[in-house]
Amino acid sequence: MTRSKAKFIFVVGGVMSGVGKGVASASIGKILQSRGLEVTSIKIDPYVNVDAGTMNPTEHGEVFVLDDGTECDQDMGNYERFLDRDLTGANYMTTGSVYRTVIERERSMGYGGRSVSVVPHIPLEVISRLEHARALAKADIVITEIGGTAGEYENVLFLEAVRMMKFKHPGDVLLILVSHLPIMSDDNELKTKPTQHAVRALNSVALQPDLILARAKYPLDQKRKEKIAFNCSLREQDIISAPNVDSLYEIPINFEKDDLGNLILKKLSLRVRKRDLHDWRKLAERIRAAKDVVKIGIVGKYFSSGKFMLADSYISVIEAVRHAAAAAGVRPEIEWLDAEQFEHDRRTLKKLNEYGGIIVPGGFGSRGVEGKLKAIQYCREHKIPYFGLCYGMQLAVVEYARNVLGWHKANTTEIDPKTKYPVIDILPEQKKMMEEKKYGGTMRLGAYPAVLRKGTIAREAYGKEKISERHRHRYEVNPAYVARLERAGAIFSGQSPSRRLMEVMELPRNVHPFFVGTQFHPELKSRPLRPNPLFREFIKASSRKR
Ligand code: GLN
Repeated sequence: MTRSKAKFIFVVGGVMSGVGKGVASASIGKILQSRGLEVTSIKIDPYVNVDAGTMNPTEHGEVFVLDDGTECDQDMGNYERFLDRDLTGANYMTTGSVYRTVIERERSMGYGGRSVSVVPHIPLEVISRLEHARALAKADIVITEIGGTAGEYENVLFLEAVRMMKFKHPGDVLLILVSHLPIMSDDNELKTKPTQHAVRALNSVALQPDLILARAKYPLDQKRKEKIAFNCSLREQDIISAPNVDSLYEIPINFEKDDLGNLILKKLSLRVRKRDLHDWRKLAERIRAAKDVVKIGIVGKYFSSGKFMLADSYISVIEAVRHAAAAAGVRPEIEWLDAEQFEHDRRTLKKLNEYGGIIVPGGFGSRGVEGKLKAIQYCREHKIPYFGLCYGMQLAVVEYARNVLGWHKANTTEIDPKTKYPVIDILPEQKKMMEEKKYGGTMRLGAYPAVLRKGTIAREAYGKEKISERHRHRYEVNPAYVARLERAGAIFSGQSPSRRLMEVMELPRNVHPFFVGTQFHPELKSRPLRPNPLFREFIKASSRKR
C-alpha cells in the first residue's frame, strides 16, 4: 500500500438498494469538481461476473459501454454524465474480475510460492486497483461506490479494503453511508431505525461512517437529524438530507444547500475553495422552465421483469433525450410503445402520429422485430421524425430493402440466417472468430471513428468530418448491398475510415424531415451540457412536428 497524496471517498448503501447511491456518488463528484479538484469515480460491482457484458439488461439494467470497450454498470454512465469525463475499465471492477487477477497472478508464481488468502490478498488487489485508477486519471479525489448494502456477504471484502485504507491513512479516507428513511404511517414520519441498523452493520466490520446521506421522500426535520446523529455517534451536521427531487441534475445543487462540499473538504483537510456550479445551475433552471412538451415514443420489445423495467434498460437513451430537450428548451415526455402491438393490429400504427418523434433503440433477438419494422415504415412514409440506435438503424436498413427496393424477405441474419437478402450480416472476419468459438471477439465494442459525408444531416449536426462514438453489436450493414441501397435513395452518411463499415444511414431532407439511424450508440457519450448532436437535431425536428 503506497502512501499517496490523493484522497479516497467511499460510498456504501444502507437499508436497501435502489436509493440512488450511484447518482449520490456522481453528485458528490460534481460538487468536488466544481471546487477545482480533479475527480475520478469508480464503481465496484459485487457480482461474480467478470464484467456486465454477460448480464441480462432486464435483470441488471442497461449495460453501459466505455470508450475502451469495457461493458459495465449503468452507474458508470451517471459518473461520466455528471463529471463530463471519459472513464476507462480501470474505473470498474467486479468480485469476479478481482478474483481472476489474483488467481492468475498466483498461477504465474506472482506470489512467489507464498500461500494466498482471501484476506489480505483480495482487499490488497482492490486497493492497488484504486491507486492505479487514481494515477491514470491524475485525480486529487477518487470516489468509489461499493455496490450492495451494508450487512451483505457480497461486499464484505471491499469493505475490508476500506478498513485497511482508513486504518493506514485515516485523514485521507472518508466513508459515506447512503441510507434510506422509510415512511410507514399516515403522519409521514420518516423512520430512522433502519439507518441505525445499517450503521451497526458497518460497525461490525470495524467501520464508522463519516457522513450519512439520508435519502427519503421528504427533507429531514431537526428531530430526525438529532436522532440519527445521537444513535449513530455522529454530529448533526454530518447527517445530510437527500429528499426526492424532480430532476437528477438538481441533486448536487441540493447537497450544497447543506454545505456538503465544505464539509467533505474540511474532513479531508483540503483547502476550502469557492464553488462554481454556475453552468449546472443554469441547466437545472432551463429544465425547470421548459414548458412546451415534446412527446417521444420509444418502440421496444416489452419487458418488465422484477425490479427492472424498460426505463432501467435504456437509461442512457432517456438521459440523452433529456440533454437534447434541455438544450432546446422543451420538456420531454417519453412513452414506451410495445413493438408487438404493431404486429397484430395495423390500426395501432396510427398512434405513432401522437408523437413528435420515434426512437427504436438497441436490442437483440427476434421478439418484436416485425412490429419495429412496421413502426419504422410508418414513420418513413408519414414523415414522423425517426431515430434508430444500433438495432434501430439495422432495422431501418431492412425496412428500406423490403419496402423501397421490394426485397420482401430482406432481413438481418440475426433473425433469418437463410434470407435471400442478408442486408445486415456478420462480416466474414467475424464469422471466422465465431467458428473458433471466440465469441467475445465478435462483438464490436467501444469507441470507433467514423467519417461523415458533406451535406448530410449527420455532418451538419456534428459540424465536423471525423467523429468517435461507442459501439456494442455483432452485426453490420452488409457491404455487398450498400451501392444498391444508395441508388434507391438511402444515404450512408457515416462510414468507417476504411469505408467497409456503415456507421450512419439517413434519408435526404427533401424526402423526410429527420430519418437517421446510427450503428453506434450516440446516447452513451451524450452529456448534460454537451448533448449528442444527433439527439439534438432529432429533438429539434420532433418539436417542429408538434
Ligand atoms: N443485435 C444487433 C447486433 O448485435 C444490434 C445490437 C444493439 O442494438 N446493440 O448487431
